[in-house]
Amino acid sequence: MPLSRMTCPTCGAELTYHSPKNAAGKRACPYEGLAYADLRAGHDQIYFGKWRKMDAGPPDVLRAYNQIGRHLSAIGRALGDKDLPAARHDLAKAHEAYLLGDPRQDTRDTLRFMDHALSYMHRVIDDLLHEMGLPPHTPMDFAEWYDVAEVPFRDEW
Ligand SMILES: [Zn+2]
Repeated sequence: MPLSRMTCPTCGAELTYHSPKNAAGKRACPYEGLAYADLRAGHDQIYFGKWRKMDAGPPDVLRAYNQIGRHLSAIGRALGDKDLPAARHDLAKAHEAYLLGDPRQDTRDTLRFMDHALSYMHRVIDDLLHEMGLPPHTPMDFAEWYDVAEVPFRDEW
């Protein structure tokens, strides 16, 4: 299996996205021991992805779009049949934005819709965490694990 396809055994993120080693040279995952580690990692590898940078090209955008699609499915599975109407509503909004943001369509608003989808998915993760009495997920806590050349270009639209 090529290195680029290897995934973290703890969070499931591709190891090209978060560094597989810590300062001591030991294999480590920043999400280890955290609730919904896979959803947090899935969110952050999109959040810190190249598509949000100013020099992103069409392949970066399409790759992120596909990641958003897979992340939507993962969140849907995690939500399952939990009685969380707000989360369900946010997931529906995320899906709506995802469909509108297809970069293979001719739309100037692709990035905006993709960003909306990511924001709504983040809200669902926070709802799931809240249900467990846990604080919201804060991506910036994990920024050092990603190859963040610059701060994502926009947080709010
Ligand atoms: Zn990991």
